[in-house]
Amino acid sequence: MARQTSDEKRRKAKVKPVFETLRGVYGDLEWQPGSDPMDVLVSCILSQNTSDTNRDRGYYAMKAKYPTWQDVVDAPTPELAEVLRPAGLSNQKAPRIQRVLERIYDERGAYNIDHLADMPLDEARAYLTSFNGIGPKTAAIVLCFGLGRPSFPVDTHVHRVGQRIGLLPNGISADNAHPVMESLFPVEWHYAGHIYLIRLGRDTCTARIPHCERCALTAYCDYFAALEPAKPKSKPKSASSKRGKS
Ligand code: SF4
Repeated sequence: MARQTSDEKRRKAKVKPVFETLRGVYGDLEWQPGSDPMDVLVSCILSQNTSDTNRDRGYYAMKAKYPTWQDVVDAPTPELAEVLRPAGLSNQKAPRIQRVLERIYDERGAYNIDHLADMPLDEARAYLTSFNGIGPKTAAIVLCFGLGRPSFPVDTHVHRVGQRIGLLPNGISADNAHPVMESLFPVEWHYAGHIYLIRLGRDTCTARIPHCERCALTAYCDYFAALEPAKPKSKPKSASSKRGKS
């Protein structure tokens, strides 16, 4: 077994207090079955380079016009792209979604990826990332949210907040951060840990300005520790020195 470096030990030591503090702030969270893995997969492709709101607008427009996956595959690609326009980059996303659906049907005889629930995790991840346009984040979201498998998706919030706290090495890419977060956090904390860090990134450790003054994690955060201590205020000049000597 590879020996942990002191930096890995230091980062690992943050996990428990960070997780437990955030659980105290946001409450207990447990994964619940319910989301269809195919819905999660297609929704995730739509979410690339857009906001959640625009992703949902495109997704629900697609569902309203094409009630089944077969309808989506059979749709003329320019027409599907027009329906998906609210999600952005629809000229790329429409054919990408159709190719993914076609391949799943060709390989499985159905629009269904439930078999990934029983596949060794590395194989399931490799299968998902073998599709054109599906990277580590999309694969991790499908595994975590669609299938309840141990997987720690690293989106923009997790990537930023993870580096500020010092869970992730500074400068690491989001793609490379996935295996780091997965090895740091116990598997039973992956789902909740991901959601806690997203919530913190949205309401407190925001991209433009981290609101450390109202954050529960200051005791464990590298960014906060590196802030310059407030400088003592300079003494006000005496009234006489301000006026000058008469
Ligand atoms: S202390 Fe500041 S930088 Fe650290 S996680 Fe909280 S808001 Fe972000």
